[in-house]
Amino acid sequence: MKYLNFFLLQLFCTQSVMAAWASGGGVIHRDAHNPWFLENTRTVRYCIDLDVDNFGVSATEASQQITAALNEWTAALRLSDDDYYSANELVPFGQIRLGSQNFAEVACSDAADLDLRFQLGRLTAEQTANFNNPKEFVGVAVRTEYDIKLLKGRGFIYLSPVSGPLTPNHQRMHPAAWSQHDFMPLKLVLRHELGHVFGIDHQRDTFMDDKWPELFVERQFLQDLTPDALAYLSRKFVVDRIFGQKKDWDVEGCGNRNPVSAPHLFGLQYSEEACGHVQLKNGSLTIDYKKSPTAPVETIGSSSFSGAHTQGSAAVSVFLPEDQELFTTVPDEAKQLGRLFGEHVNTSQKMSGDLVIKHSGVKIPLIIEIQPTSTGTTIFDNGKFNYDVFFLD
Ligand SMILES: [Zn+2]
Repeated sequence: MKYLNFFLLQLFCTQSVMAAWASGGGVIHRDAHNPWFLENTRTVRYCIDLDVDNFGVSATEASQQITAALNEWTAALRLSDDDYYSANELVPFGQIRLGSQNFAEVACSDAADLDLRFQLGRLTAEQTANFNNPKEFVGVAVRTEYDIKLLKGRGFIYLSPVSGPLTPNHQRMHPAAWSQHDFMPLKLVLRHELGHVFGIDHQRDTFMDDKWPELFVERQFLQDLTPDALAYLSRKFVVDRIFGQKKDWDVEGCGNRNPVSAPHLFGLQYSEEACGHVQLKNGSLTIDYKKSPTAPVETIGSSSFSGAHTQGSAAVSVFLPEDQELFTTVPDEAKQLGRLFGEHVNTSQKMSGDLVIKHSGVKIPLIIEIQPTSTGTTIFDNGKFNYDVFFLD
C-alpha cells in the first residue's frame, strides 16, 4: 500500500512485544498465545495504574480510552463468524467464543482477584527487573499467570511514559505522544495490546502489525501526519477490519488518492490530476473517472459479480494442555492437533464477472479479491494482468 510504505520507511527502533512470564525459565510454552479468557471467565476485573505526570494523559481520559478499546474488541469478537465446530462437538461451550466477558473496572488498591492491570507509565521494581530493558518498547501485554486446568490467564498491559526514568530510549519519541491527534497513538497501542490478550497474533498492515506501536509515537511521524493520512490510519484502527467484515466499498479521490491506478486498462490516458470513483455494493462494481477534478464524470463501466465466496482461517487457536479440565469433549481432530480453533475467522472475498466498458462495449473479465487485512483490493484481468484499486476508506 502506497501510504503504508511511506510510513514504514520511517520506522525506528524496536518492535512491540508480547510476553508470557507464566512460561517461566525462558521456556516458551505452547499455550503462550492462548487467549487469556475463555467463556468460563464471566467477568474480567481490571484496574488502571496511571502515572499522570509522566504519561501525559488524565485519569478520566485514560479510563475512557480503555473502555472504548474494550468495547470495540468485544463488539467485533461477538460479531465474527462462528463455524469451526458443530453444536455438540466442543463440550461445554460448543464454540470458542472470545470477548464474552463483562469487563469491570475496579480500584488497583482493591487488587484481590484482579485479572488485568493497565499500567500506564508504571512498572514495579520486580517487573522492571523481569524485562531486559523496558526502555526498548512502548507497549507490551504480559501474561503473568496461566491456569492450565481452567485456561485462564492474568497479567498486565504496560505502556511506557513520555517522561521520567522509564522513558523509552527513542530519542525521537514525541514528548506528549499519547495525547497527540485526539489520542490516536493511545487508541492504536491499546487496541494492539488488547488484541494479544484476546489471543490475536501480529498481522501485517493492521494495527496488530508488530512495528506500528513504536512508529506511532515518533515525534516526526506525529508532526508530519496530514489530516488525510490521519483519517486513513484511523479507519485502519477499526477492530473489525481484522476480521474482514466489511463487504461494500465506496471511495473516490484525485491525484495520488485516485483509486483507479490503471486507467489504460479501460482505454484512458494516465493523468496525475485525474480522479476516480469505485463503488462495490451488493456484488455490483461501478467505476467512474474524471480527467481532472473539474472535468465531467465519465462512467467507465459496471459489472455484476457472481461466484462470491469467502475463505477463512482461524484468527485464534487455543493450545490444549494435557491437564486442562475446561473442555470435557473435543473433536478428534482437535485432540490430534492438541489445539482448538477460534471461531474468529479472517475472511477474504473473491468474485468474478465481466466489466462492460461503456464507451466501447468491450467486456473485460475481472476477478476481484478483497483481503481482510487490507483497505484495498486487487483486480485481476483474467488472471493475466492485475492492478490495485485502492479502497482508501
Ligand atoms: Zn504486539
